[in-house]
Amino acid sequence: MPGVLDPEIKRALAERIRFYNELGIYDFYRRENLEIPPELREEMTPRSKAVAVVSEEELPAVNSKPESGVADPVTALRLIREDLGECTRCRLSKQGRKQIVFGVGNPKAELMFIGEAPGADEDQQGEPFVGRAGQLLNNMIKAMGIRREDVYIANIIKCRPPGNRTPERDECETCSPFLMRQIAAIQPKAIVALGAVAAKTLLAINAPMSEFRGRWFDFRGTKLAVTYHPAFLLRDPRQKKETWKDLQMVMKELGMAIPAKGTE
Ligand code: URA
Repeated sequence: MPGVLDPEIKRALAERIRFYNELGIYDFYRRENLEIPPELREEMTPRSKAVAVVSEEELPAVNSKPESGVADPVTALRLIREDLGECTRCRLSKQGRKQIVFGVGNPKAELMFIGEAPGADEDQQGEPFVGRAGQLLNNMIKAMGIRREDVYIANIIKCRPPGNRTPERDECETCSPFLMRQIAAIQPKAIVALGAVAAKTLLAINAPMSEFRGRWFDFRGTKLAVTYHPAFLLRDPRQKKETWKDLQMVMKELGMAIPAKGTE
């Protein structure tokens, strides 16, 4: 049973939550048994107490995503896109991105592919995986006996990093809450993370590809598998047969018939 919240603390808390909401962050978790170092204990105690007594009902106006309670994934995705707006939340908005690459595909997809970041072609066309790596991803999807339009494709970050460099950690942290909301709207049965950046960001595990592949992870209640990024396969085509093994594991999980032929 929550106690009465000091109005000043409540106002400060509401302001802080609104700040996070503007960044696209809506999910907060209360850390149980938080270990507070002795030197911070006095300073932190009043605030920790306040957080402990706040109930969801006390902050209904600020702590709700625009798509909350929207069952239709098409509408939910539209609301998330609108909330994202002409995003300037990280430095990439000022470093030559042409446009935001939100995601594409079936809003009711059972299967989602998640890559790293848009490249030059994606930045130009506003759609993920449309360049050479995209052609290979299309072939992988086709080899599974389905079409690109049947799945949903997105990236960890939505803007092209200059020179296609690897996204910085803070860029992933700023942008990925929108991806989390897309996943929550679509509710796929399985997610395939393409490459180590996607795997590490989604699973918050720093491990090599060898430890990610060939097994299922739980991602907030959804099955998640990891395979090689198509751009890597373009550089090392011998790994395509390994990728095909990963995709077969996914197909088995989704109850899909497994064609004899692998990815070309
Ligand atoms: N690589 C990615 O990770 N994503 C794209 O959309 C294109 C290339």
